[in-house]
Amino acid sequence: MMQATVREVAGWCGAEEITNVSDQDSLILSGVSTDTRKIRPGQLFVPLSGDRFDGHDYIHTAREAGASAALWGRRKPMPDADIGIPLIIVDNTLEALQAITVGYLSQLQAKVVAITGSNGKTTTKDLISSVLETRYRVHKTEGNYNNHIGLPLTILSAAQETEVLVLEMGMSGAGEISLLSRIGQPDIAVITNVGESHLLQLGSRRNIARAKLEITDGLKPGGTLVYYGDEPLLSEELAARNLGKKVKIVTFGENPENDWIARYIRVTAEGTQFTALGDTDTNVELPVPGRHNAVNALAAIAVGRLLGLSFDEIGIGLKSAKLTGMRIERSSAKNGAVILNDAYNASPTSVKAAIDLVAELSGFRRKWVVLGDMLELGPDEIALHGAIGSYLSESKTDNVIAFGPLSEQTYIEAKPRFPGDKAMHFRDKGALMDYLLEHLDSEDLVLVKASRGMRLEEIVTALQKGA
Ligand code: ATP
Ligand code: MG
Repeated sequence: MMQATVREVAGWCGAEEITNVSDQDSLILSGVSTDTRKIRPGQLFVPLSGDRFDGHDYIHTAREAGASAALWGRRKPMPDADIGIPLIIVDNTLEALQAITVGYLSQLQAKVVAITGSNGKTTTKDLISSVLETRYRVHKTEGNYNNHIGLPLTILSAAQETEVLVLEMGMSGAGEISLLSRIGQPDIAVITNVGESHLLQLGSRRNIARAKLEITDGLKPGGTLVYYGDEPLLSEELAARNLGKKVKIVTFGENPENDWIARYIRVTAEGTQFTALGDTDTNVELPVPGRHNAVNALAAIAVGRLLGLSFDEIGIGLKSAKLTGMRIERSSAKNGAVILNDAYNASPTSVKAAIDLVAELSGFRRKWVVLGDMLELGPDEIALHGAIGSYLSESKTDNVIAFGPLSEQTYIEAKPRFPGDKAMHFRDKGALMDYLLEHLDSEDLVLVKASRGMRLEEIVTALQKGA
């Protein structure tokens, strides 16, 4: 984690005024926290002002919890003089946090890999990290610390000896990835794909592609952009950016024109095997199912090669990858049925990928998909749910259960192809669980997927417990 003197920290954020400090060079700050509930002795407390809370109100708690110093927003009333710890006065504590991050990053000798995209960022981040850990000391984004606050905190918690930082960069609107990229200054930037999430804020898929490409804004000179070449909008918008020779390009996908191509993809409930064609052909095994995960793994292979890894190291890293929970997490129901928990989130692209995955799996008596609402899709939300219903009609799914008000449209479009009780729609989660517990056979497969807000993991837990 960050280790820096008060003077260094003040220098990084351009602060001219520091209160309550006699010697700026003797006090060393170890790490940064924005949350007084998690603060550890010796840390720098950064009070952030949000809609509901203002961290400045918690300065005394921070000191009692052991904070050695704090940032302080110039416009906030100063706390009592006896606060007892140095306060570094800044114009804006959030911007100061980001500036401190840039300062600490410049001290680290680490290569930076940054990942964005509509779907698959966390999965790809985990695959890339697992590959790079076979050779390097890696520090990666935990959970979803991928925004303008989480990304700085991720970097500031990296050990001094870190050799590679693997950073997830998330967004909900234009300009956000640009900021994150300029803070993280990647050597390698990865774009996993362009989907429909945040269509509401951005208006079109082309605008989403453009927003993802902002990741090149902070790319170091001579850095490499690794992107999903099967998405024409990315290629078109990249050309429009006129980056010239400043950036090296590596593409991946299933189309033969990519630099890295996935072929002979075989998916089972346990995992995925495929052949990666690139600077050489190599057979790959992944412990997670899904065609789209073969494509995510290509990004990891490309990054591994750029950082000098052998195919053996890459193969070992991919085979032993452990993914963050609820991304197609496999488990068993009490009665033995196989559950695929993909309840972490959902958008049209990722729901279709999940339906494709179910189609490829065999050896089950029946295959069920339980789909809850996809949230934040904007004015076309009903039509987009209906399109999932049509997609299901072409799929190899046996039973469909739709859950939530928007998913009624999924049900309506799917119904003609799933007669009788093969398609059901529920508004009540308890009733859905009871129905599934009664009808799911021990030799069945069930995939559960929805936006985070729908909390469909409760269904998974009920199936695992059998009640
Ligand atoms: P978030 O925006 O919530 O951080 P994320 O981009 O980190 O999401 P993951 O958590 O890796 O994405 O995966 C989210 C969902 O997207 C999962 O349901 C997964 O099945 C699906 N998914 C993963 N990779 C792809 C891909 N390449 N194409 C389409 N869907 C994918
Ligand atoms: Mg994520």
